[in-house]
Amino acid sequence: MRVGVGYDSHRFDDARPLVLGGVTIPDSPGLRGHSDADAVAHALTDAVLGAAAVGDIGEMFPDTDPENAGRDSIEMLAAAVQRIDALGFTVVNADITVIAEHPRVGPHSEAIRARLAQALRTTTASVSIKGKSNEGMGWIGRGEGLAVIAVACVDLSADPRGS
Ligand code: MG
Repeated sequence: MRVGVGYDSHRFDDARPLVLGGVTIPDSPGLRGHSDADAVAHALTDAVLGAAAVGDIGEMFPDTDPENAGRDSIEMLAAAVQRIDALGFTVVNADITVIAEHPRVGPHSEAIRARLAQALRTTTASVSIKGKSNEGMGWIGRGEGLAVIAVACVDLSADPRGS
């Protein structure tokens, strides 16, 4: 068993839709970014890659690559899972915290868990997502953006490298 941690933050952008964990959340400003700016998918992708010690999302999907413009970040997460799968790793579980004054994550948590579980090739019961406010402090408290922390546990079920 190995554990990885991922972090991401994005600034709010009124002109874009909000996508968190592959789910479009209505009635909230979106996030600025080169891709669809899905901070949940980004943090989780880094956690998955970190658990297997195979780099990070920026190296896999450079934001200088026009191919990644507006890209569906769930696709990036699935590609990271594919990368670790090729090394014999499977995702055991993931736990995510979204730190934001708004929107509330709770009403969308079931849809997000289902979407992430599919990309992680695991069950909804193995994916957790929670929302936390920052108690009005700092840039998150002022509503400038949101931050996400993700942890992923992976299991080396089979090692095709034979090591
Ligand atoms: Mg990001």
